[in-house]
Amino acid sequence: MPDKRVLCSRRRGRGRHPWVFSNEVQRSEGEPGPGDAVLVFDRGRLVGSALYNPHSLIAARLYSGSDEAFDSELLGSRLLAARERRRAALPGEEDFRLAHGEPDGLPGLVVDKYGDQYVVQAHSVGIDQRLELVSRALVEQLGATAVYERDDSRLREPEGLPRVERALFGEPGEAMVSENGARFRADLRHGQKTGWFFDQRVTRRRVRALARDRSCLDVFSYSGGFAVNAALGGAKRVAAVDSSAAACSLGAANAELNKVGDRCEFRCEEAFRFLESLPGPEAGFDLVVLDPPSFIKSKREKQGGLRGFRRINAAAMRLLPEGGILVTCSCSHHLSWPEMRDMLAAAAEDAGR
Ligand code: SAH
Repeated sequence: MPDKRVLCSRRRGRGRHPWVFSNEVQRSEGEPGPGDAVLVFDRGRLVGSALYNPHSLIAARLYSGSDEAFDSELLGSRLLAARERRRAALPGEEDFRLAHGEPDGLPGLVVDKYGDQYVVQAHSVGIDQRLELVSRALVEQLGATAVYERDDSRLREPEGLPRVERALFGEPGEAMVSENGARFRADLRHGQKTGWFFDQRVTRRRVRALARDRSCLDVFSYSGGFAVNAALGGAKRVAAVDSSAAACSLGAANAELNKVGDRCEFRCEEAFRFLESLPGPEAGFDLVVLDPPSFIKSKREKQGGLRGFRRINAAAMRLLPEGGILVTCSCSHHLSWPEMRDMLAAAAEDAGR
């Protein structure tokens, strides 16, 4: 049980939100330091147990609504419960984002599961200090054969944490991801993010269902997630574009792995230049997928990012013939859905569609 305390006055209506902001903290007792477990009281009433960081705007991240220690028992049971939730939501799948931080009661901890290999990311000091404990729980309670820390996220900066990449257990390396019955090689050490973009599983399945007899262009293709699914869905041909040579060669290998290499072509090109060099519908594509990296990484980048989104979407729309399909994505937290809809309307106007 935490013996240090943080006394705060939370803004009204924040109920059980798992964060206490620094401007809501009034004082602490027992001199809690960065990463320490604390009990949080709001106007004298116990809110729960949290991991503390006096140097972050997010001063405390609640992991429990009661007085509880953050120990291997809690970690193990939270990780097992998270695995059951993902298995229930994704029947038959064994490779997925296992822990999403706060919603799984593991504030600041992200865990991706690649079969028996795991990649972890710590976005808070409290979790960062407990990564050995996390690794042990994964090995002893979930049967991990390898655990890799892939902490290259900019989310660590506000917590004062450096970028770190290291094996915590075993020898993590290449993994085989199975998704919707397709298979993909993922490089846990050198690939992008933790090696695979698990968040596009449902959209990839939709693309597979839409692709029959179409000519597909997968822009920002990384290791071929959409391209391979389009080919598996019966696309006549698939072209995939990414500026990373490593991504393109992984994509080509993944197309071979799924026996659709003969219909997939991977091109290492800059996406804007490539799209704007095509003549229009005469290029023959009637299904275009756009899955760009985050163009708006902070509020400051909003206007520039919006211009980028509008330009790339207009370029994709210009390619499409009547009845063509555009699948367009954004992973930019700072772009809301209404803003995205307006941006797409503007792009359609630019493209005359
Ligand atoms: N669609 C992929 C994920 C895309 S992630 C999937 O389903 O897994 C974004 C990709 O865009 C990365 O692979 C990155 O290499 C690529 N990229 C970033 N900037 C680019 C640019 N200007 N031109 C082409 N590709 C780019």
